[in-house]
Amino acid sequence: MNKKRVIVIGGGISGLTAAHRLWELDRERRLGLQITLLEARDRLGGLIETQLRDGFLLENGPDAFLAERPWALSLCRRIGLEDELIQPQAERRRSLILHHGKLIPMPQGFYMIAPTHPKALSDCSLLSFLGKLRVRFERFIPPRASDADESVASFVRRRFGREVLDRIAQPMIGGIYTADLEKLSVTAALPRFHEMERKHGSVLRALSNGSAGEVVADAEKASGPRYGLFLAPRAGMSRLVEVLARKMLEVELKTNSPVEGIERKGKGWMVCLRQGHTLQADAVCVALPAPQASALLKRVAPASAEELAGIPYESVATVNMAFRREDLPILPEGFGFVAHPGQAGGVVGCTFSSVKFTRRAPEDSVLLRAFVGGAMAPGAADQDNEKLQSNVRELLKKTLEIRAVPRLVVIRRHPGSMPQYHVGHLERVQRIERETAKFPGLTLTGNAYHGVGIPDCIHQAESAAERICQGSERLI
Ligand SMILES: Cc1cc2nc3c(=O)[nH]c(=O)nc-3n(C[C@H](O)[C@H](O)[C@H](O)COP(=O)(O)OP(=O)(O)OC[C@H]3O[C@@H](n4cnc5c(N)ncnc54)[C@H](O)[C@@H]3O)c2cc1C
Repeated sequence: MNKKRVIVIGGGISGLTAAHRLWELDRERRLGLQITLLEARDRLGGLIETQLRDGFLLENGPDAFLAERPWALSLCRRIGLEDELIQPQAERRRSLILHHGKLIPMPQGFYMIAPTHPKALSDCSLLSFLGKLRVRFERFIPPRASDADESVASFVRRRFGREVLDRIAQPMIGGIYTADLEKLSVTAALPRFHEMERKHGSVLRALSNGSAGEVVADAEKASGPRYGLFLAPRAGMSRLVEVLARKMLEVELKTNSPVEGIERKGKGWMVCLRQGHTLQADAVCVALPAPQASALLKRVAPASAEELAGIPYESVATVNMAFRREDLPILPEGFGFVAHPGQAGGVVGCTFSSVKFTRRAPEDSVLLRAFVGGAMAPGAADQDNEKLQSNVRELLKKTLEIRAVPRLVVIRRHPGSMPQYHVGHLERVQRIERETAKFPGLTLTGNAYHGVGIPDCIHQAESAAERICQGSERLI
């Protein structure tokens, strides 16, 4: 049988998952695919990078994935990684918010920005009396007349008031997306809240009518009763990359292979590599961040290339810092804190890594990890190492009273790594999808489109692979 060649461009979790799903479908349906993955750098994994150093397990990129979004867990099950997954230490399971220099526990019984029952609101120490009154008033605020997208800030201000926006939404939602909530799209980032207002007229009414139950039920359905909110391989996130790569034996995984362009060639594709080298393919899956995808599509799909170039990306940095246990005051209960970066020297949050997960540091040490940069702290991630380190240490001194010199510091910059889903994002993605759908054998996937988290990247990549295989009979 004549093999049909599929080329996946990009060796981050999106590209690896796309290649793996193609490999699975090829085995299940005997499609006769020859799969090649091309990665520019000398290693696979993209933003995922676990480092072992001096007895510490350092995560320079993502450190866990949400079990509530089922696709990462499902992939781990299929590749035999489920038994290696660990959960954060249950007894410490809570997060803190930095507010006016103080670490305050995240409100319990809240579904992100909204209380799911009246006691959750009355117990919430982050909001003032007037702030709480304003939240209660949400039930009486009429829904917005228009269905059009709006910013998360506008949505939260309109429904819950300014305090919830400043004290809860910006550090929490802004931290997840490293975004400015005045620009972040509510339909892309908080689609459930948008739906609750649309269907029930009020978020609080929706939650008391049972939507909160649905949220919990969805989470349980997705992850099964064994799992809490977050999961990670015991040996760190790079283990996922390693097992995935090892599993798909017949897939050709080529590192040091940056792609410079793609072109239509007859019914298929020509993939252009360095020094004029080319590869022919029947289908191409572009699993790259939007700016790099835009550069590749310029000649083939100029309108989509322009739309892709319009998706902004922000830079972030991680600063892993280890201290001797004896030098450290007692850490507050929790896995770490989130902060308003404008108030914390560009630091978006700090994870107590060796508290969150066991065996991340030698017995006599504690490992912390700060997350710096994003849209609310422009330039913060690009500062030199000394400045980055001193900003983080300054914050740790103020919040946790840590004055000791760290015994280990590892800084990793991720320039242009966090896509910003601005208002109108989903319409933009639809336009891109409409244009690229006109090209048989071309699919796009990655964190630029329908979700930034690892489970969402996995879901999108698997769907992209399935689209290729649905069309595989037409590929040649
Ligand atoms: C610091 C940080 C922490 C995060 N923490 C979490 C977390 O805890 N949990 C979570 O769920 N998500 C987290 N995220 C988000 C998540 O990690 C990313 O969205 C996801 O890893 C993106 O994967 P990707 O494969 O789409 O892109 P990338 O990982 O960026 O991979 C793209 C790959 O394409 C390659 N490439 C680029 N151009 C070319 C070219 N021309 N030719 C060939 N190859 C090319 C790159 O070298 C790279 O390897 C975090 C993100 C960051 C930056």
